[in-house]
Amino acid sequence: MNTDKRQRPLSDIFSLTHDQFVDAAFHRYGKKAYYSSPVYRQIMKNGQTDLSALDSADRIPQWLDQTEADLGPMRGKVVKRIDDGGVAKFVTRLDDGLDIESVIIPMHRRHTLCVSSQVGCRMGCRFCRTGKMGLIRNLDAGEIVEQIFTARHGLGVDVRNVVFMGMGEPLDNLDNVVQAIRVLEDQRGMDIARRYITVSTAGVVDGIDRLARLDDGPVNLAISLNAPNDEVRSRIMPVNRNNPMAALKASLLRYPLRKKSACFIEYVLIQGINDRPEHARALARYLKPLPVKLNLIAYNPTPDSGLQAPSPDAVEQFRSWLVAEKVFVRQRGEKGGAIMAACGQLGGKQRLSVPEHCR
Ligand code: SF4
Repeated sequence: MNTDKRQRPLSDIFSLTHDQFVDAAFHRYGKKAYYSSPVYRQIMKNGQTDLSALDSADRIPQWLDQTEADLGPMRGKVVKRIDDGGVAKFVTRLDDGLDIESVIIPMHRRHTLCVSSQVGCRMGCRFCRTGKMGLIRNLDAGEIVEQIFTARHGLGVDVRNVVFMGMGEPLDNLDNVVQAIRVLEDQRGMDIARRYITVSTAGVVDGIDRLARLDDGPVNLAISLNAPNDEVRSRIMPVNRNNPMAALKASLLRYPLRKKSACFIEYVLIQGINDRPEHARALARYLKPLPVKLNLIAYNPTPDSGLQAPSPDAVEQFRSWLVAEKVFVRQRGEKGGAIMAACGQLGGKQRLSVPEHCR
């Protein structure tokens, strides 16, 4: 990651906060914030890339011409959009020909956007299609932010919440994810408050601790737990071998949640793996001291995983065991299953579009 943002081309605008953009414009053109600040707002807040509409265009047409040339066309291109009963998945083709997927989830009035943080993932969770790809590369902060920009201004979606729950393990690409969060929450640009941003992890403990130390307060945290004990978890989530559940729990107890908020726990129920009554009891014991809300999700079968979906009755039974143990459970409907937009299903056909040199 290039840390000296003053040296970055302005085409990296999606990677830059307002102040970083102003700083970069000053170093590149010697123009002060009076000129560059409206450019940032026009693009990042209003989604307007025609800079000639700016008041200041009359005064500095030459600089704006240069700036427009520098900004160039938007980098990613939406190559596919698929809708399924309100949930929509769109595929963005990156500069190097790789595809990433983002999922639009309708909420009550506005929308949640599930974004990718990597192309592929090296965590290797058995139930996950993205994990089968392995890690191809990290996304930079701009490629993450551009997914939200595209949803808002390219597809006309009113995005309020952002969850890092798409392709990739965000804590395996933490520098870029943190920079993307800073850009997203900049009120002079995308203006998505930190309380509307959630980072979901498979349980990378040192990453959780780093996230806890973010300036200006932590983001919401979600843990993809999926097991009641180390034996089951290590079988389906290799990340558990170096980040056992006791260490994960200790990091969650340390995590500075906002007042009255909770950590979200994702539990994908898989037939014959993590669905027994003793699993529900052990899970309840594990969660007891933690301020959490549990999302119970029926596994969506994917080809070649060797894993089976539970029946609706089995999901309901497991939920009732947890409720009897006084666990707060939300049973999440699998909106988007038909378009492979459900949990652990992104990246299914990704290999078809991976350039030869990356395989
Ligand atoms: S579930 Fe998440 S962490 Fe696990 S392989 Fe899939 S993308 Fe990676």
